[in-house]
Amino acid sequence: MMMPSILMGMVHDPLTLQGFLDLVPDEAHAEVLFLSARWPEGPVCRWCGSVGNARRLPGRKMLFHCRDCGRATSARAGTPMAASHLPVRTWLTAMFLMACSSQGISARQLGFRLGLQYRTAWHLSHRIRRMMASDDPVLRRVVEMAETDVDGDLPACPEHAGDDDSGR
Ligand SMILES: [Zn+2]
Repeated sequence: MMMPSILMGMVHDPLTLQGFLDLVPDEAHAEVLFLSARWPEGPVCRWCGSVGNARRLPGRKMLFHCRDCGRATSARAGTPMAASHLPVRTWLTAMFLMACSSQGISARQLGFRLGLQYRTAWHLSHRIRRMMASDDPVLRRVVEMAETDVDGDLPACPEHAGDDDSGR
């Protein structure tokens, strides 16, 4: 699978929501980004701890078969995304919206932007807030994508990224 240029540290300009969506145009790109942030050294078996010796199983669930112990590990297991059926791309877009919103974004706004029911959006925002508190590596990667520079603690996102794009 091709590595999107974003993973190579090529982006230096502030990223708009549209720019983010261009870099993560589909679920396959979202999964590459997620996997590279979660497992930078390769898949980690949750059962035997082996690193980089698992084969991805066909299908869309990010399941990996460990060559050392023969068991399967989901890339989502052990993350706040474990019990979620939402696409990875929806998660990453929600992370981008929440991390780049200087005023904060409510669950209702998040649901509206992503086309999710309020209850789903509430759970999503709750889990992403927990990721923020725990310095989750996937969230950190999304924030890195949005940063203009690394001087400040906060991502230097366009103030109203996506706000004028209410048609989406
Ligand atoms: Zn194993």
